[in-house]
Amino acid sequence: MTFSYTQVSNYLRCPRSYRYRYLDGWREKETRAGMVFGRCFEKALAALFQQEDCAATLFREWGAFRDASLEYKKGESWDRLVHQGVRLLEQFARDNRVRIQAPQENLQIKLLRALPGDHEFVAYLDAVGQLDGQLCVIDWKTTASRYAVEPEELLALDPQLICYSWISGISDVALVVCVRKRVPEIQYLKASITEKQRQEFAQLVEATVEQIASGEFPAHSGIRFPQNGCLSCVNLGLCLNNQQLIDANLIRIAGASDLDWLDELVD
Ligand code: SF4
Repeated sequence: MTFSYTQVSNYLRCPRSYRYRYLDGWREKETRAGMVFGRCFEKALAALFQQEDCAATLFREWGAFRDASLEYKKGESWDRLVHQGVRLLEQFARDNRVRIQAPQENLQIKLLRALPGDHEFVAYLDAVGQLDGQLCVIDWKTTASRYAVEPEELLALDPQLICYSWISGISDVALVVCVRKRVPEIQYLKASITEKQRQEFAQLVEATVEQIASGEFPAHSGIRFPQNGCLSCVNLGLCLNNQQLIDANLIRIAGASDLDWLDELVD
């Protein structure tokens, strides 16, 4: 079997949720405008590095969703998002802090690593390039609010970045966070991942894959206030047997496990 970061983190959060998603084929409906827009924006960023018209790419990609029935948060609209996106692209070009050599090879990089038991791990890195002249793995994020930067070194605990450092063997990692707000802002957040963290992540992946292979999928419900993970879980309807919630959030896809690697492209 091929595993990804999304699968492992999904299992660690709640094994029952993993079963719904990867064994039973339940998928979240893609109705959140911010998420869909983020994917279009990343294509525009890629166009920028390939010397193409990035604003035109954003209009083309996001234009495909103009009449789609997406859920917009309060104050959001199709026009507003595209306006914010263009301003962010302009800001990113003005900052000129990120360099990607040979963008055809160094954007959306697929990396594979063999795991015990004939399994393998796949990751798609957004980019490998230079931030302020330093080689690093770069992950793009598009969000409506700033990422926390305190306390110092917080980013070095980000499990997805640790995963990317592990699979690439590159210590330095960075998040380029494009914040969609009235005055657009781009955060360039850097961290360095240690060899010990990479080794621990490898052990975590192997132990998790072993647990999945053993077929145990107990529910890790989070019933304590205020950190109740179930409240933000798309599978809540399945656990509560609430058809209204199921219809609102999920769609069931036959043979879904064949396309599990696609998860990595949408993170
Ligand atoms: S609702 Fe709670 S128990 Fe059910 S799958 Fe989601 S996190 Fe797990």
